[in-house]
Amino acid sequence: MGSLSSEDHGRPAYTLLDHSFPRPLPMASVDEMHMRRALELAAKAEAEGEVPVGALVVVGDRVVGEGWNRPVALNDPTAHAEMIALRQAGSALAQYRLLNATVYVTLEPCAMCTAAMVHARVRRLVFGAWDPRQGAAGSAFDLAHSRALNHALDTFGGVLADECSAQLKEFFRRRRSQPGEGPSARDGTAHSSTSK
Ligand SMILES: [Zn+2]
Repeated sequence: MGSLSSEDHGRPAYTLLDHSFPRPLPMASVDEMHMRRALELAAKAEAEGEVPVGALVVVGDRVVGEGWNRPVALNDPTAHAEMIALRQAGSALAQYRLLNATVYVTLEPCAMCTAAMVHARVRRLVFGAWDPRQGAAGSAFDLAHSRALNHALDTFGGVLADECSAQLKEFFRRRRSQPGEGPSARDGTAHSSTSK
């Protein structure tokens, strides 16, 4: 691989050698593809009786972290989907900063998760449904673009918003119809807006 690329400093070898390398998908298609995976992860949370939120961290075309909401199961108020995915990504990359990472999440993140992404220097945040009550990427707060913080997230909301919103609404509708079932503790995030 090295012989060809060595004449072309700084360019990855595959651009020269691999003629079948796929054309990049348009950004919108990539975002939807990853959001569909986030919806699948959210369904795992729902299967465990947790509020269905799913998240993944992508660097380039590689998924380096995945998570779904687990605060009740883990007795951990910080175990939001995004936090779990960020932790996994940090371990996978052996980095505490996730430069060039994109976080996909089915619901606009809360203040804790948005702040964690700022700490991690995440480059891009893509989310599905808006959370007018607790969303911290422009709805209730805007920690993604706060002048008080030293990093801003390139934020894009509303990807597959209808599907992401429907998944949450259906979860809360079912839970209301089954009093006494489901998690006894709420994680208090984000999700109350869709429950009312
Ligand atoms: Zn959160």
